[in-house]
Amino acid sequence: MDLMEYQAKELFAKHDVPVTLGAVLENAEDARAAADKLGGRVVVKAQVKAGGRGKAGGVKLAENPDEAVARAGEILGMDIKGHTVHRVLLAPTADIADEYYFSFLVDRAARQFLCIASIEGGIEIEEVAQANPDAVAKVAIDPLVGVDEAKAREIVAATRFPAEIADEAAVVVGKLWNVFVEEDASLVEVNPLVRLGDGHLEALDGKITLDDNADFRHPEHAAFQDRADTDALEADAQAKGLNYVKLDGEVGIIGNGAGLVMSTLDVVAYAGEARPGPDGTGVKPANFLDIGGGASAEVMADGLHIVLGDPQVKSVFVNVFGGITACDAVANGIVHALQLLGDEANKPLVVRLDGNNVEEGRRILSDADHPLVTMVDTMDGAAARAAELAALSSSEPGRTD
Ligand code: GDP
Ligand code: MN
Repeated sequence: MDLMEYQAKELFAKHDVPVTLGAVLENAEDARAAADKLGGRVVVKAQVKAGGRGKAGGVKLAENPDEAVARAGEILGMDIKGHTVHRVLLAPTADIADEYYFSFLVDRAARQFLCIASIEGGIEIEEVAQANPDAVAKVAIDPLVGVDEAKAREIVAATRFPAEIADEAAVVVGKLWNVFVEEDASLVEVNPLVRLGDGHLEALDGKITLDDNADFRHPEHAAFQDRADTDALEADAQAKGLNYVKLDGEVGIIGNGAGLVMSTLDVVAYAGEARPGPDGTGVKPANFLDIGGGASAEVMADGLHIVLGDPQVKSVFVNVFGGITACDAVANGIVHALQLLGDEANKPLVVRLDGNNVEEGRRILSDADHPLVTMVDTMDGAAARAAELAALSSSEPGRTD
């Protein structure tokens, strides 16, 4: 999960990293009282999960509370890289002497952590790396040792922080490491980390990616989940405990096992290339949905409910390989799911069953003889049929059967 700036700053504050929390608000009019309380002169910052807000006009200075209301009004509702701004952060303007870049991340290829830092911050680090690669320090961190005092000193020296702030920088580096480790983050980025006029350091912006696999250790992180910013279908699927990712195509996908679902996406994309969809480029998978090993009727019904709830979906491909849950149980699951869904099931379903007890599974489905269900024995054949059905109903927008 990616956090917004104000959320990242809350975690910074929790670990004693120097930040100013300010005020978060959703209505421009609230900016008057907030700005007044913060001393009048404030910076108004769009809270969206996208970088480059400054360049996009999402960071503005206000000289007084009236201006704060005006700037907040301009920024709220703004679209930044496809994200609508629902919230702004107001903070007292900082007296910036210098802007630095600082981050901790996972270096998967090297199987260790990495610190990337630069005294040329403020702008995007990719730009610095391009224009002046020598100004970007990269320090590998042994995961078994972490960032101790010596490593913090090494990072400060490699970054070439000015001597007068070296001691404070080493302390801040250590605190940011605490955020990274104790919050189970896979990214902690501060851009800019600033040196203020008074010589002290402050994190003026923050980006944190939390490792969702560690959620069980952090019930408190659930509060960061921003409903407004997640896709409604994904939120619904998450609430039902389903592994669902919304994609952009027309063929709904349901499978058991992440590997099978991944290859199903591939064969559907391949089959779809031959079938011009609404944009003329061929129909594509509409989602990833892994219903896991125990494909019970309830789980199948939940899965179909989510997939059919996507208005872009024109056909559904159910691809199940019977293992511990045998094909007959899955077939019964599909039949009962269609009963549970009733009229909600309104798009053609192509079902491919294989594996444990496949004959019985196919018999159950053909006996049920549901008008929406087509059985196809091979994965490629089923993908082709699902793509064909999606293309057919895409080309006949009035068609509902
Ligand atoms: P980003 O563009 O999304 O990375 O947003 P930032 O929070 O990094 O802000 C962009 C730039 O706005 C920073 O690099 C600063 O130069 C400037 N900025 C942000 N906050 C303040 C502030 O409180 N005072 C001043 N003077 N400038 C600020
Ligand atoms: Mn920034």
